Amino acid sequence: MKTLLQNARCIVTCDDNDSILRGADVLMQDGVIAAVGKLGNIEADEIVDASRMILYPGLINTHHHLYQYFSRNLRHVQNLELFDWLTALYDIWAHLNEDTVRLSSLAGMGELMKYGCTTCFDHHYVFPNGAGDLIAAQFEAAESLGIRVVSSRGSMSLSRKDGGLPPDSVVQTMDEILRDSRNAIERYHDASDYSMRQVVLAPCSPFSVTADLMRESAKLARSYGVRLHTHLCETMDEERYTVSTRGMRPLAYMETVDFVGSDVHYAHGIFFNDEELKFLADTGTGVAHCPCSNMKLSSGVARIPDMLRLDVPVGLAVDGSASNDASNLMQEMRAAYLMHRLRYGAEAPTGYDLLKLATRGSAQVLGRSKLGQIAPGFAADMFAIRYDRLEMVGAERDEANLFGTVGYNQPADAVWVAGKLTCKEGVLQNIDEDRTAAQSRAEIDRLLISAAVS
Ligand SMILES: [Zn+2]
Repeated sequence: MKTLLQNARCIVTCDDNDSILRGADVLMQDGVIAAVGKLGNIEADEIVDASRMILYPGLINTHHHLYQYFSRNLRHVQNLELFDWLTALYDIWAHLNEDTVRLSSLAGMGELMKYGCTTCFDHHYVFPNGAGDLIAAQFEAAESLGIRVVSSRGSMSLSRKDGGLPPDSVVQTMDEILRDSRNAIERYHDASDYSMRQVVLAPCSPFSVTADLMRESAKLARSYGVRLHTHLCETMDEERYTVSTRGMRPLAYMETVDFVGSDVHYAHGIFFNDEELKFLADTGTGVAHCPCSNMKLSSGVARIPDMLRLDVPVGLAVDGSASNDASNLMQEMRAAYLMHRLRYGAEAPTGYDLLKLATRGSAQVLGRSKLGQIAPGFAADMFAIRYDRLEMVGAERDEANLFGTVGYNQPADAVWVAGKLTCKEGVLQNIDEDRTAAQSRAEIDRLLISAAVS
């Protein structure tokens, strides 16, 4: 199947030369970008007039908790900071089941896709007893949307009685976790370059997992060649926790459990000191930057300009829907832009720097060398917005900086994943949005009633 996007108004390629092309074409063949440039008369199964379109590489989300889509905007947790906020929410999350995960994944990834996202990394770490096959439910949702997904098998093994934060009802034993992690990898992980689904192992955080589980997860993941992920350096509370319980700072603790390296990325990474940032760069350990969540939970400002200067791999992420509370990477680029302008002034990343973070930076953080650029040999993942919309008047002159500087934030006019049109004029093409919304609202009612939240 060959699709030709012809005569594009502008292509912001995010390639190695930062090329911005005008009046050029993109040929997609069998899910991959076959050619980019002024291609002349070539044969294609489908030819799309792209003369009003600005094309961007598909956005890549590097950290999420999709199940939280059904516990967002809850009044009783809005004023809390991370540890109190988590403690209040664990009681709701103890009632998750397969329907909660399937529907919240559809809704959350559906929103992401409408705003240009083509790959989503999710960190699912709540597995209540008898809840069913939650990872299978998430892969099912991704497949029906047509989005590329990286689903991490998270875990919690350290409950309150052992000095951790979560209640007993949402933690599992190390044996259960490792057995289930192995099953998830063997059943679902596809390591190929253009894979639509991958598995990552992701013990939740230093304060909800034992040191043994971190170490054994790392060993298991590496024996299969899958990647690793966890939350790190999100708050000062976490730093105080590892200093008082482990006698060391969070990153030093990660080193002792072999949880560092170019196959690892951490969510947040706010409180690294100079030496630790250098260590991340030297080891190729990545960071998922989550500006909206970090501001909402009053956590802090990640040192993104320093990370970029040192060449630490950095991607962009929305984080879970309970701490954002949206799933929209256009909004995240804008938030990051403003947050760092306020903190760093002229040293702050530009709008284009943040677009690169959300595309090629995120691809690097997930170890996906064929995602994140509009260039030959890359996956045919892209989105388009029309330059002649009213909201674009005056803003269309600098396409590369648009999302940070202007804060353009409307559903995409087109989204392609693996060369297939998955969203057209802001409407998802593979699912019935109204039906999914109605089913999701019914499931939220069930979840909140079970948890006795009014
Ligand atoms: Zn998170």
